Amino acid sequence: MADIFMTSFRESRRLGDCWECYSVARWQPRDLNYRELSQFAAFRQDGSPLRLRDFENPLEGYREEYLAGIAGMQPVLLPILERIVRRPRSKHLAFCCWCPHSLASREQLAAFGTFACHTMLLAGWLREAGFSVVLDADRLERGVKAWR
Ligand SMILES: [Zn+2]
Repeated sequence: MADIFMTSFRESRRLGDCWECYSVARWQPRDLNYRELSQFAAFRQDGSPLRLRDFENPLEGYREEYLAGIAGMQPVLLPILERIVRRPRSKHLAFCCWCPHSLASREQLAAFGTFACHTMLLAGWLREAGFSVVLDADRLERGVKAWR
């Protein structure tokens, strides 16, 4: 079973041909053409965007809502993941998001020294579901501590 590497679109550009990259964000940079796993992007259960700035207690509220959303879709999501991760492959797998290079991340880093990215919540959820996930250096070193 392949490891899933959580990283940013920016870092993913340096990974090279041995990598198969997926977008787990709501959209991806225009010049990339990654396969979309938008089911894992930060959406509310009603389909509207899930944003940290919409919560009064941002981290906990956001975490709960994001995890509730993917938990509700678990029966659909797990088979999709199984197909991706268990397919015989010669390439490594990366799931990509904008953070920490988005404006919102940069503001969080300036204010708190850390950034919150849904890929870290997704990583925790995937590990609980039995997948092997590796966070990139940005997430390990500067992601919000409670989510690492
Ligand atoms: Zn992110």
